[in-house]
Amino acid sequence: MDIDEIANGEQLIRNTKKDQKVVHEAENNGANEEDIRNVGANEEGAENQDVDVGDEGEDEDSDVNEEDHQDFGNVRQLAENEEGDAQNEFERDWDDNLGRMVMERIQWPVQDLLRGCQWTSHLMECFAIYFRRILSNSFYPVLHKAIGVGSAFEGWSPREQDVVYQVLVPMAPPRGHSFHLELDTAGQEQVRNFRVRVQQECTCSSAQWRKNMLCFLHHPEEELSRNQDPSLLDTLCTDSYLDVHKTSRWFYQLVRAVWPALLQSHNWHLVLLPSRRSCQFKVTNGRESFRIEILFGVRQGDSDIFVSSEPREAYTSSTIWPESYAVAEMKFFKLITRRAPPGSLHLKCLQFFTRLQLGLGFSTYTMKTLVMHLLSIVPVSQWRRRHFVRRLLDISEGLRTCVEVRCLNHFIVGNRRLPEVIRLPAEILTASPCNLFHDLEMDPVAHSQAMSQYVDLYCRVVSTFSPALHPEMSWLATKFKEQARRNNPVPFFASGLCVENL
Ligand SMILES: [Zn+2]
Repeated sequence: MDIDEIANGEQLIRNTKKDQKVVHEAENNGANEEDIRNVGANEEGAENQDVDVGDEGEDEDSDVNEEDHQDFGNVRQLAENEEGDAQNEFERDWDDNLGRMVMERIQWPVQDLLRGCQWTSHLMECFAIYFRRILSNSFYPVLHKAIGVGSAFEGWSPREQDVVYQVLVPMAPPRGHSFHLELDTAGQEQVRNFRVRVQQECTCSSAQWRKNMLCFLHHPEEELSRNQDPSLLDTLCTDSYLDVHKTSRWFYQLVRAVWPALLQSHNWHLVLLPSRRSCQFKVTNGRESFRIEILFGVRQGDSDIFVSSEPREAYTSSTIWPESYAVAEMKFFKLITRRAPPGSLHLKCLQFFTRLQLGLGFSTYTMKTLVMHLLSIVPVSQWRRRHFVRRLLDISEGLRTCVEVRCLNHFIVGNRRLPEVIRLPAEILTASPCNLFHDLEMDPVAHSQAMSQYVDLYCRVVSTFSPALHPEMSWLATKFKEQARRNNPVPFFASGLCVENL
């Protein structure tokens, strides 16, 4: 598709009112560019400042504390500019109208994610009651309450059908055992991989001795094998390390054994699906069906970071547990959603772009990372319908800049701006930023491919809005065209890069 053609053709039919709008928006956008540049500049000197993730309601700025003040100064300015706009009722209506039209042009999937999440959580609670009973005297890992993670529990989904409801079950060591996380240095730089070493602990002097538990270290093997269940080392481990494949098989056995005892089994049919690093199944009742994936992991200290069974690469060794940020990310979305005003479209923005890029080279995680960065700098009150087009432009513009400069920082690793409620281990908090576009930095061919993938994505955005169908859309096509030509400032989440790459 030729975007210039669309925009030029549409220019002819634009009326005076819209011309004024284009001029106004162009000016305003110039101001915003300046603000974003300042945000980038501030970032360098803003270390260790605890920044909130956004604000609530229209007058939310008043309760931002002093510490936040400097760091958020430019964002606040941006917000004030937008609030200034909002005072003009005409402008406000115009923006809202445009947002409505664009919303109507997008085909949104029909989903009830909330129902799926609630159903899944309830099922996991029911499973947990039986798991506790079955495992109470064993030396298998202690299973803690399942945590809903992934896109569905964050409130969005890139898929129309086959939404996967993911839960992470934290595992703790059983009596007489301890877990020790060991960093696997042989892995890639980008993803930290761990092994979970299982160690037997002496229980001779503990209260467990009085509960007829024999010490794995100091009782004769013969007595142990005769009177006590096997140690975790002999069941789910390989060479003293917790084995993902064995743990996965164990979960399948548990689910299969417990299912008939659950009330749900009266009306729902369970189909186990193959997976070596999780436990996946589908439940259907003829009208509805849910696909559920149980991941398992070990918490790092008391933080929201885990090592989990979820693989990052096509092949991951059975004793490798990649670091997982899924719980921290879910908590971030939960916080934003709690603070967002009714009708906030931040999840729609994310859903729109992740669905649009399906089949192109960008990963869903790339789009999600980009949107999380934007959510942490643009106040939550600025994601309503009247801001919808601006936010879509922000995302598109942010992606292009990141591809150009070959840098998109991981949202969790080394991010000192995260709200305190998200608990990070010290080494994650103080880590250097982790560039998700590291490959583009190293490989010029991958970089030019990514640039062309961006152009494809951009064309999809413009064609979604189909300017030819509605004169109002000409403004949007023009905006995207302008944006492609502008020399954009570098968003802070793509900072720490070589400017000469630009
Ligand atoms: Zn002992």
